[in-house]
Amino acid sequence: MKREFLHALPIIHALEKEGYEAYFVGGSVRDLLLGREIHDVDIATSAPPEKVQAVFSKTADVGAAHGTIIVMYDGEPYEVTTFRTESGYEDFRRPETVRFVTSLKEDLKRRDFTMNAMAMDKDGNLHDYFDGQSAIREKKIKTVGRPEDRYTEDALRMLRALRFSSQLDFEITLDSLEAIKRLASLMKHISVERKLTEFDKLLKGKAASSALYLLQSSGLIDYMPGLAKGMHGWDSFVSRTLPASLGLSERWALLLFDLEADKPKEFLKKWKMPSKRIQQIHSIYLFLLKRLEKQWTDVMLYEAGAKTICLTEAICESQPDWIVKTGVEKAAADYNRLPIHSRADLNTNGNELVQTAGKEPGPWVAEALHAIELEVLEGRLHNSRNDIERWFLRWSNQTGM
Ligand code: ATP
Ligand code: MG
Repeated sequence: MKREFLHALPIIHALEKEGYEAYFVGGSVRDLLLGREIHDVDIATSAPPEKVQAVFSKTADVGAAHGTIIVMYDGEPYEVTTFRTESGYEDFRRPETVRFVTSLKEDLKRRDFTMNAMAMDKDGNLHDYFDGQSAIREKKIKTVGRPEDRYTEDALRMLRALRFSSQLDFEITLDSLEAIKRLASLMKHISVERKLTEFDKLLKGKAASSALYLLQSSGLIDYMPGLAKGMHGWDSFVSRTLPASLGLSERWALLLFDLEADKPKEFLKKWKMPSKRIQQIHSIYLFLLKRLEKQWTDVMLYEAGAKTICLTEAICESQPDWIVKTGVEKAAADYNRLPIHSRADLNTNGNELVQTAGKEPGPWVAEALHAIELEVLEGRLHNSRNDIERWFLRWSNQTGM
């Protein structure tokens, strides 16, 4: 058994000792069969949530009503979920209420795709009631049960089908694809947050281009914030080279670039991304635009900072038809050679300028600091206290500030 499962094995033993069943389920079992890296080893059990809480000393209740308890074991968090069925999907999305059941098979039946509906017991035996193994062998994404029924219950599963096809380079079965085309509009019931989680994984997948193509041809694209069928730039994005080394932020920046988004921040806000994430993607996008106009200047390098430089240059390097390349290494070396890397590196500060000028502080301080930064960066002024003071007094006289 692989290390990731061995580490969680005592949780299964502890539940079984109390007379319950417990199995590894879902993504980790699928990834084991695929030979993919395993993360998030989830456990399903016949024990009700309060029993799970009673058996383990360190737990967190993240959704006991849905049957999920986080068990901290040897420093690692594991999701332990009580066998359940999900009935009464009323709004074409995950149900608010669930019913706990005692059979593993019933629990597996509620899962989305056959490859995700397998369980493994403590001895490494597979419990595969829906033939997930064949699906994996044939590289097929198949719903557990009829596609129409499963997509109508929870419309997000349609987008999940596309993201798994992107991550695994699997084919979605024809009847599934047809159902997705018919039911695409149900996606309007799904929250932006859930769409973003899946779209991020789709964008990062190894077969992203074909999944992006499917997003448009299936009509799901119309329910993605800020995107729509036939929109300008989409086809260019679909045909982009997206090597594995290209991170998620760079991919989003390329999307903005191809769509020629006139309000890029507004577009990202529609996806309800955290503002730090929006800042980073937006900054890469802006420097990408500048960078395609001209080579890095020292001021551009300074304003972008090390991280944005590397990510922007990584995009340029990844695109075979873009000839304006500096290379991540050269750009980083040029950045390292700058005389200063932030305002804090200047051998002066606002207080000193106020004292030297003998004037009330005001907006002139920021302007003076900015002017000094530019002089130092462009090599006209040495970053020493005396030189800066002399330069500042002259500047102050000339500008009257
Ligand atoms: P990843 O490796 O990306 O985390 P995963 O298969 O673990 O993939 P999760 O979203 O973490 O995917 O979900 C865990 C498991 O829960 C899935 O393998 C599947 O069995 C089940 N599942 C998740 N979302 C749904 C859904 N919308 N409908 C039905 N079953 C689902
Ligand atoms: Mg998972």
